[in-house]
Amino acid sequence: MKKVLAFLLVLLLPCLFLCACGKKAADPAQEGGNENTDVYAYDPATDMDNRFASLRSGIAETEDVIYWAPNDGNMLMYYDKASGEFAPLCGKPECEHFLNGNMLEPVKSCNAYVNAENGALWYMGDKLYYAAYENDPAHNAFSALYRMDPDGTNKEKLMPISVPENCALQNYQLHRGRLYSYCYCKEVNDAEINCSLRIYSTPIDKGECDYTLVYERTTYSLSWCRMRFVGPYMYAFVCYHDDELNESCADIYRWNADTGEGESLYDGPGLGGGNAFWVDENGEVYSQMYTDGDSSKFGRIVNGELEAVMDFSDPTGDFYVSRIGNGVVIALRNDTETSWPADPEHYDIWLRDFDGKTLYKGKLPMAWLAQMQKGGTFWSIDALTGDENAIIAEYSVRWRNATHQNEPLGGCLVRYEITENGLVETVLGTYYEKIVNNGLL
Ligand SMILES: [Zn+2]
Repeated sequence: MKKVLAFLLVLLLPCLFLCACGKKAADPAQEGGNENTDVYAYDPATDMDNRFASLRSGIAETEDVIYWAPNDGNMLMYYDKASGEFAPLCGKPECEHFLNGNMLEPVKSCNAYVNAENGALWYMGDKLYYAAYENDPAHNAFSALYRMDPDGTNKEKLMPISVPENCALQNYQLHRGRLYSYCYCKEVNDAEINCSLRIYSTPIDKGECDYTLVYERTTYSLSWCRMRFVGPYMYAFVCYHDDELNESCADIYRWNADTGEGESLYDGPGLGGGNAFWVDENGEVYSQMYTDGDSSKFGRIVNGELEAVMDFSDPTGDFYVSRIGNGVVIALRNDTETSWPADPEHYDIWLRDFDGKTLYKGKLPMAWLAQMQKGGTFWSIDALTGDENAIIAEYSVRWRNATHQNEPLGGCLVRYEITENGLVETVLGTYYEKIVNNGLL
């Protein structure tokens, strides 16, 4: 299931990008009976770090450490900011962690072996949380939610993640004590195929799932969802194809976990695929806009309408709004003539704060490539996020062979500090994966 999802994501990536939504969040006075707008401030004890929401790999950051469960999620690695050390999160003496430098040959007794679902890693309240693959027919579950100490010890199973109504859950998110996920369901009724996208939410403190259906939409064809979290709200960017308009559309929907109420903030065309999607602590919703192939505008939703707030077009070649981080808009361009993969030396990046001020505009440094094993070919930028101080990028490479079957793949996590003198690149870590034993661990 994970492999299929990863494949779908790769397929979808090129056609992603559009959107914005900017209805002001509910009056704080209605929320807590006072005018304390901090009700929406990010709380590291309980809240999703939106920089790392809806990614393929699991990434989490604390003041001292960056955690990374790359790609297939087998191993949980950490980068120590003070020492620069990058290693599996395992303090067991004599442990080999994984064999032959290959993360697909893990030592299962290793503390760092977490076998996590895509992107299902969170750091909250001084604990690490993750969803691990774990077949549990008695609970109709294929994965389980775990919690452990930041050093990888004291693993504790919180609950099996049961499948609601036979949906294949995807892309878990954790926020304020609730687990969120979406699924895409196909049903055949009277020879007509109906497809729907559903979002479920469950508390995590009951030892078992107690789902609330938060959202459902009949979409008729493949659709997907990205989520962000602010205060009691889950914001979903639901991407679907509108058959009547014959266009990609997005529904930006928010759900209040405290009241159980939901509302659509925007529903229609003009938005990208949801990777460039952000909600600030005031509930302002931002997104890439997408019209007639133009993805150079950064927009927001105001009173149900889409409004352009920043333009990344350029006389020497337009940039496209690729991702949005915490207070930073990340735009890219690449003039590689072959379509895929792009030439890594041809990436330009343009970083601006939400007021439009340019933080950096120029080459995207790619010195990390030299640190990958010889013969690796640049494959893609898998993640790009950050804030006004630094950008975090995750890249993948492949070792091509003649048949393009079972090619080893790897990747690199890079931090770019934004300075007056440009981007200062630091390699946080790399990984290598090669399928052995027909993929049987
Ligand atoms: Zn180990």
